[in-house]
Parts: sequence; structure tokens; C-alpha cells
Amino acid sequence: MGSAAAHRGDTPQAVRHDRANHLWLERIVRSQRDGLSCLPFHLGLDERSYAELIRTHFPELAGQTSASLGSLAHECSELREDLLEMRRDEWEELRVLLLDGRRGDDPEELWMASIVAAACLGGDHLWRDLGLESRETLRVLLMHNFPRLAERNVKNMRWKKFFYKQLCEQDGGYVCRSPSCEQCPSHHDCFGAEI
Ligand code: SF4
Repeated sequence: MGSAAAHRGDTPQAVRHDRANHLWLERIVRSQRDGLSCLPFHLGLDERSYAELIRTHFPELAGQTSASLGSLAHECSELREDLLEMRRDEWEELRVLLLDGRRGDDPEELWMASIVAAACLGGDHLWRDLGLESRETLRVLLMHNFPRLAERNVKNMRWKKFFYKQLCEQDGGYVCRSPSCEQCPSHHDCFGAEI
């Protein structure tokens, strides 16, 4: 689906420090360590990208491993890595969707796309699965990194629903049964408040 191959294997080169992303990443890493997100230890990144992210933003965490957080946190992270692996194709489609809408002037958008795509595989609202403070924080993060995608969510749809709808529409297989969102019995699932 889409242009997956165009982005597969991308890694940030000559990473520039972005203060906004630094603050969001700080929160995402902290929440993961505190068990407050759905992300695995590596946040959905491959080992090399994860190491680069830590080296760039949080060098004080360079020696930290999943195992060093304790056996429960380690087991939890391993399980999440396994689940991510099982849904790797879906993760890749979401990641490519995000990257197709990226701002395009910051290599850290690649990291953020991988992390957001991994969080989309969790079972809660996206902002919670990322470990962010609020849906508004997520909106600003998405507008900052992927404006050409986020701007298309003009009806303030729930973000996961919005992303999957884009994928289905791209694929020509979108299965909304209702002629319009306003008449749809699933309206609350797609547009309801995320609390
Ligand atoms: S509200 Fe109904 S019609 Fe609209 S996107 Fe959701 S499922 Fe589809």
C-alpha cells in the first residue's frame, strides 16, 4: 500500500536537535519507563535508531537496558516487541502514511513516525498509548512533524481512526457502511471525546 518502499530503511542522518521534539520524546521515554504507555523499551525503533536517539537527546540514559529496569518491565517490553513484530506490516503502513505527510525539514520526523506508528498498535487512545499528557499535546506533535497529514483531519476525528481511514481510502478498500459520518452509528467511536 502507498509508497512504503520509498521510506523503508530510512534512518535520520545528521540529526539536528529539535527542542519541541526533545520535550515530547522526553515525556514519551519517561512514560515508557514508568509503564504508562503501550510502547516497548526501544519505542518502536530499531536498535541503531534507538541508540542514536538516546545518544542525541538523553546521553545520561545510554547505559540503560530493558533488563536494568527490573524483570517485570523487561518481560512487558519483550512482549510488546513481539507484538510489534507480529504486526510489522501494519506498523510500516502507518509509518509510511505519517512520513508521506511529514514537514520534511527535520530527520527526527523519521524517529517520530516510527514511534507514533508503534503506539497506533496499542489499545487505548493514541495520546495515552504514546504516554503524552493530552490529546492536544498529540495534535501539536503531529502538526509539527506531519503537518500535511494532520491538517487533513479537518473534522477532528480520533487520530487512530483518522490514520486507518486514510490507509483504507488509499487502498480502495474503505468499508464505512454509512453514507455520511453524521448518520453513522459509529460516529462516537470515530469522533467522540478522548478521555
Ligand atoms: S463515523 Fe462512520 S462513516 Fe464516518 S469514518 Fe467513522 S465509521 Fe466511517
